[in-house]
Amino acid sequence: APSKPRVIYWLRTDLRLHDSPALKAALDLKPDCLYPVWCWDPHYVYRARVGPNRWQYLLDCQSDFSASITKLNPKSKLFVIREAPQTLLTKLFKAWKITHLVFEKDTDAYARERDENVMRQAKEAGVEVIVKMGRTLYDPDELVKANGGKPTMSITQVQKAAEKLGVVAKPIPTPESLPNPGDTALDFDHTQPSPNPDFNDIQRDSKDKSYTNLSGPGGDFAVPTMSELGLKRATTQHRGGETLALKALDDIISNTKYTATFSKPETAPTAFSPQSTTLLSPHHHFGSLSVRLFYWSVMDVLKAYKSNQSTIPTNLIGQLLFRDMYFAAQAPLGYPFAQTVGNSHCRFIPWHLPSKVDPCNGLITGEHHVDTPEAETWFQRWKWGKTGFPWIDALMRQLRQEGWIHHLGRHAVACFLTRGGCYIDWERGAEVFEEWLIDHEVACNTGNWQWLSCTAFYSQFYRCYSPIAFPKKTDAKGEFVRHFCPELKDYPDKFIYEPWKAPIADQKKAGCLIKGDGDETEGEGGVKFYPKPMFDFNVRRTICIDAIKNAYHVNLYGDDAKVKDGTWRDL
Ligand code: FAD
Repeated sequence: APSKPRVIYWLRTDLRLHDSPALKAALDLKPDCLYPVWCWDPHYVYRARVGPNRWQYLLDCQSDFSASITKLNPKSKLFVIREAPQTLLTKLFKAWKITHLVFEKDTDAYARERDENVMRQAKEAGVEVIVKMGRTLYDPDELVKANGGKPTMSITQVQKAAEKLGVVAKPIPTPESLPNPGDTALDFDHTQPSPNPDFNDIQRDSKDKSYTNLSGPGGDFAVPTMSELGLKRATTQHRGGETLALKALDDIISNTKYTATFSKPETAPTAFSPQSTTLLSPHHHFGSLSVRLFYWSVMDVLKAYKSNQSTIPTNLIGQLLFRDMYFAAQAPLGYPFAQTVGNSHCRFIPWHLPSKVDPCNGLITGEHHVDTPEAETWFQRWKWGKTGFPWIDALMRQLRQEGWIHHLGRHAVACFLTRGGCYIDWERGAEVFEEWLIDHEVACNTGNWQWLSCTAFYSQFYRCYSPIAFPKKTDAKGEFVRHFCPELKDYPDKFIYEPWKAPIADQKKAGCLIKGDGDETEGEGGVKFYPKPMFDFNVRRTICIDAIKNAYHVNLYGDDAKVKDGTWRDL
């Protein structure tokens, strides 16, 4: 048996060299050789909804990380191997005579299942496994324990539980050298493409299904390119990687006033170039920026900055605590956290357009849902930015194009789709976000959709966002709308959020008629069309508020929800 450790450092959520507890644990073994490995997980690649923008971001993170490894040791790099970890890793243990497997802890439902499987196999192969937390401020399982074994459902619960756990761990130094990888010969074929019928149309650039299992040109474990993978081109300008992440962090932190006075509700969702919040979320998602480094960098600024600091929960520390809250809400609930079915903490609302499964009877649609024939059309128009409400359409177009929108923009479109407009199941909206966000994180996406739809975390359903009054507060001239809905760019300020109110003469003058449902975008003589609003917002808001109020009654009182005279009980 080899006398010195031969280590696979398995990367998943931690594409960085700085402040990486898992990498440190691997190096502390003083290994004879270290193989940094990324397994091409089919769950991620073929089944989950990942649009081209998030793909590009992942490849950016991998390339940057690989280059940084090579800078520390010219013989090393990130070894990208396109096979499921559940089948690949045991083969690598044998071929490379591995003694230790090290990785960062991941509490997502699928990840737990996968990792338990891999750990079982490692045990059988006599490989020691080391798992370290580094993805959140606190280990979600520890937060849950400190919260009495329950999912964390509020910031106060997180703060109280965190107090019991002590201060957030300080960042650890970046390594200055890395061991060589050992021999990389493999006794199985990892260079042949194999067909992947499940590869989905969101991602596919052509009808050819025989790609995405290549091990890189020449089977050299290289990070592939988008075109090698047969993926559609990314459209976002946001790029990934640890180098960019550290630079972005530096820029934010060196602006001490911005960092110390940041208050989320005061940041403008209509600001887009530059945006008004940090845009660090995709870096946190891929682990190209450590959340603990961000946390302590902000804390240092707060310590030194004396006047007018913002506080938890609206300051930057509060934002990171929200992130931890969603992770520790998901951790004990597992798969059901991301849906209504079988989810103990989520209220059931009979949406007009339910998700595919009705939690009451397990069928596609059910008697509990009021059938609103327009709902599917509304959903499609929402998704593709054709609702006829410029603020909503501009946001959805920004999301599709760039993969990121401001938090309050996310509020606006999520409220509009669910309890504040269309009355469509939040799960349908969450799926669209999953496809298009570059920062998509199961825990945060699901939790925030539940918050906005008032199915969990939040219950003030009578507070709706108006697609007209809300954006006016920060962007009276509608610059944001003019940018993302350019057909409206010459509209007078006073009609920019309600173009259907513009007299026909003004519409003609602006070169854009308010007409149709968004399918036709241009008419004779190059005149543009922008759709009519798909419903009267004020009417829909009243219908939604009444409906959700009734649903809350039924959630609370079941069949006794209505008192005798036909009115509802007090909530
Ligand atoms: P900043 O305001 O600069 O905050 C700093 C960091 O704190 C962020 O980078 C992020 O890591 C964290 N953070 C801030 N707000 C939240 C929050 N409400 N919940 C969790 N973490 C937060 N965030 C995701 O990371 N992934 C998602 O898939 C996601 N889906 C969302 C879906 C909906 C419907 C809504 C309303 C919000 C969602 N968010 C999600 C939360 C939030 O909108 C983004 O984290 C934030 O807008 C990212 O921009 P930023 O980095 O500029 O944030």
